[in-house]
Amino acid sequence: MKRLFIVSLIIVFAISLAAQQPEWCKKLPRPAYAKLERVPNADGWFQVYRIRPGVFAIYEPWQLEEVISYLILGSNRALLFDTGMGISNIQAVVAGLTRLPVSVVNSHTHNDHVGDNWRFNDIYGMDTDFTRTNARGSKDDAQAELAPGQLCRSLPEGFDAKAYSTKPFHITHSLHDGDKIDLGGRRLKVIATPGHTPDAIALLDEKNGLLFTGDSFYLGPIYLYRPETDLDAYVASMQELAALTPHLQLLLPSHNVPVAEPAYLPKVVSAIQQVRRGQVKAIITDGKHEYVFGDFSFLMR
Ligand SMILES: [Zn+2]
Repeated sequence: MKRLFIVSLIIVFAISLAAQQPEWCKKLPRPAYAKLERVPNADGWFQVYRIRPGVFAIYEPWQLEEVISYLILGSNRALLFDTGMGISNIQAVVAGLTRLPVSVVNSHTHNDHVGDNWRFNDIYGMDTDFTRTNARGSKDDAQAELAPGQLCRSLPEGFDAKAYSTKPFHITHSLHDGDKIDLGGRRLKVIATPGHTPDAIALLDEKNGLLFTGDSFYLGPIYLYRPETDLDAYVASMQELAALTPHLQLLLPSHNVPVAEPAYLPKVVSAIQQVRRGQVKAIITDGKHEYVFGDFSFLMR
């Protein structure tokens, strides 16, 4: 009888552990979102916010990456800057926001930014081997996104976790540093920002002072530990972005929060230079070195 009691205690404990949310979920909703204009959408996996006229952030809050894709409208076409995790259908969300033809441009081709590329037939890709390799699809990085502790909410109904992968996609236009994409009444300039990955870019909307920074900058731990990361290139790219600061009104990063002050850019440059000079003490986070500077940090090998 006593043994039965202990066994049932263990079972109850295990169930309550499983039901407990991971620690990071307690940060949600992030306070910055209270000030943003929420746009209703049918798919509960995504949240949509209007950041500026014709600029929507499409946020996936329930997975640890908290990835943000952007829909940017012109008068005759729309650009989707990243397609998210590929866990639910971003194309349906986009179709609810615009009837314009949509071209996909990726901030870089990590799995959490290209997950729904396969649904689109007009895709710009940087002219790098890294991009071409990732366009073939992959499974390991996608599967890692579903590991214990990565989710704050159950996955969408009908989602097949075991089969989850980054599906291959077809690049229809090759993209280079300095290219300009005309959406009609809005021009976006491509700025190559290699570092986080070889194919990382930022998009500059010069007229409106908007800079879409991709993963080169966001408020949170910036990942600089993967084998494809090049720190020298990262510093040079951030210096190039920081030089734009006087002409910018807003940064729109690809994770966590879709708005940040341009004044962060020069701070990031000086922070990464201090780290590289060995002037900053790291804390060890998941076996990686994290260098913390207030509301952003660098996660390095
Ligand atoms: Zn990335």
